[in-house]
Amino acid sequence: MINWPEMDSKYYMQTIVREPVTIVKGKGARVWDDKGKKYLDFVGGLAVNCLGHCHPEVVNAIKKQASTLIQTSLWYYNPPMLKLAELLVKNSCMDRVFICNSGLEANEGAVKLARRYGVLKLKGAYEVITTFESFHGRSLAMTAATGQPKMQEPFKPLPNGFINVKNNDIEAIKSATTKKTCAVMLEPIQAEGGVNVPDDDYLKKVREWCDQKGILLILDEVQTGIGRLGALFGYMLYGIEPDVLTLAKGLGGGVPIGAFLAKEKCAVLTLGDHNATFGGNPLTSAAAYATLKYVIDNDVAGNAREVGKYLMDKLEGLKSNYPFITEVRGRGLLVAMYFNKEIAKSVVNACIDKGLLVNRLKPNAIRFIPPLIILNKHVDEAIGILDSVLSGIKG
Ligand SMILES: *Cc1c(COP(=O)(O)O)cnc(C)c1O
Repeated sequence: MINWPEMDSKYYMQTIVREPVTIVKGKGARVWDDKGKKYLDFVGGLAVNCLGHCHPEVVNAIKKQASTLIQTSLWYYNPPMLKLAELLVKNSCMDRVFICNSGLEANEGAVKLARRYGVLKLKGAYEVITTFESFHGRSLAMTAATGQPKMQEPFKPLPNGFINVKNNDIEAIKSATTKKTCAVMLEPIQAEGGVNVPDDDYLKKVREWCDQKGILLILDEVQTGIGRLGALFGYMLYGIEPDVLTLAKGLGGGVPIGAFLAKEKCAVLTLGDHNATFGGNPLTSAAAYATLKYVIDNDVAGNAREVGKYLMDKLEGLKSNYPFITEVRGRGLLVAMYFNKEIAKSVVNACIDKGLLVNRLKPNAIRFIPPLIILNKHVDEAIGILDSVLSGIKG
């Protein structure tokens, strides 16, 4: 039998401490390791597999497209890319789409667009205000946008033009706004940064401020989009519309794809401004079209909302039994549980032993980001495992 962890340590860049599981197969909310052991998957490819593993609609779309046409480049029209763009526009407040390959690429595109907007409409303004504890991706520019010093420090000097300010604080955004500001970029709920749910009226206040100043509001919905929070897009829950929206993770149902979308008034990128070799790739676009169509037609977001509530209730139940659980927070199926000590690693490992995958969010927090198609019975199963793991921890 091949020792995969050994191969990893020999050949792969060692940039992450992986969990001790080699996943070889998945179906629905389950995955199997190389020894045939089955797990309930509450990580879902890191908030990516919104329809679970190998959903038949997605698999069939990929199979069909793979034997028809895989890559064209953006120099040609192709049907899956354009069908996906139309579906996104018709189901959001946006007018135009650019399809790329990942979350960071979507955010880079959005920031390029904001800078063009600054040049054309705001006398050369170029700065983008973002928040501490945000996460926008791992390119150098997105590292500067990501307000986490520990990620920035090793890679200095970073591109300039990003101002990180306190999260969930409209006054911090106001006082950072100058003539140089072209946009504010936020996640509706900071995900990687800790599942930090802002005040209900925060986004509305930011929207009003951006309108007042004539600057763009970019929402990074790479993690919160495609039903995760219980609405197709997170902004729908907060009674506002962004000017620019970025998507990735859930969009392709597992294949790598991203997109940035803009309202007509600020869709200012023109000929020659932007391109990507794999942008609008027919294979990934076909998978994304099938995913998004299924999510919309079957109200998968509504399921995420209902099952998410059930999950939060059950986790709150655990919290009242275990005093070392300090907080349960989130929305829809983006949920975190916090502890008063650094036990996330041991909790995650004990869950693995018992057949449940959950995500280590911080040394003292775990995250639940399961497929959006899970049912209450999956929650019951996960809670049962978690309960037995937590009961083994000395309070
Ligand atoms: C994951 C994530 C990104 C980065 O996406 P990649 O596809 O890893 O580049 C950006 N923003 C948010 C909110 C994310 O959750």
